[in-house]
Amino acid sequence: MSLQCHPCFDPEARHQYGRVHLPVAPKCNVGCNFCNRKFDCLNESRPGVSSTLLTPEQSLTYLNKVVDLVDTPITVVGIAGPGDPFANADKTMRTLRLVRKHHPSMLLCVASNGLEIAPHVEELAELKTSHVTLTINAIDPKIGAKIYRFARLGRKVLRGIEAAEALLDQQLDAIDLLKSHGMTVKVNSIVMPGINDHHIPDIARLAGRLDVDYHNCMALYPLADTPFANLDEPDAAMMTDIRGRCGEFVPQMEHCQRCRADAAGMLGEDNAEVVQQALTEAAS
Ligand code: SF4
Ligand code: SF4
Repeated sequence: MSLQCHPCFDPEARHQYGRVHLPVAPKCNVGCNFCNRKFDCLNESRPGVSSTLLTPEQSLTYLNKVVDLVDTPITVVGIAGPGDPFANADKTMRTLRLVRKHHPSMLLCVASNGLEIAPHVEELAELKTSHVTLTINAIDPKIGAKIYRFARLGRKVLRGIEAAEALLDQQLDAIDLLKSHGMTVKVNSIVMPGINDHHIPDIARLAGRLDVDYHNCMALYPLADTPFANLDEPDAAMMTDIRGRCGEFVPQMEHCQRCRADAAGMLGEDNAEVVQQALTEAAS
């Protein structure tokens, strides 16, 4: 499979190929003030949402069904939650091994906050995981402390500046490690007005220095029952301005669809019924 067949990374491939997310990772090791994983309604399209959780074995059954049911050729298997792949590392790695064994030509892609990914990078590379996305919302721990309530490292729970510093350290180490293993690395940054909107170009500058391949600035989607429920959603002018400034440092990705953790098919395609049918059958 050519790397050009990744619909998220190649704007040409976006209209020809699809991706499927395997929702095998329920837990998270970080508390983001904008995240709410409580809702799992099929009408909702955003990260952190999945209508069902699957075991690694069920996820392989699901993948086989989706490949048959969805019209678009599926070229990418992604793991993007609904929690964090590496807060559920056993499940994530087992799933990737199963997919690699049964679908040798599939591109493998993971999206993580970057905490605790490092011990798995070697095996990710052995499995030919080609694309990794890390969400970095601050490189200044004082700003990070406003965004993250906690970061869990093993049995230790860090809070405030300490949590933000530990997360940032691991994110920066992870970028180095992933790049040195030849993977394509994308950084996602969620733009939160009044919290980090002024700071996003600093993230892009550092990402450029670290040779990150793409940067994806995503507008905050303020969710009920979160500490950031009352923040404004960035408007189009703010996003254009920020992407323009960040583009001086690192190529910007602009066709992100804020996919669900169980999305399937072409970006922007609504396969909700097919997905639901395949998920239900695979989980039963
Ligand atoms: Fe990978 Fe993100 Fe695209 Fe999913 S949406 S396939 S995790 S880049
Ligand atoms: Fe939610 Fe992702 Fe933050 Fe975890 S890392 S709290 S899943 S946004």
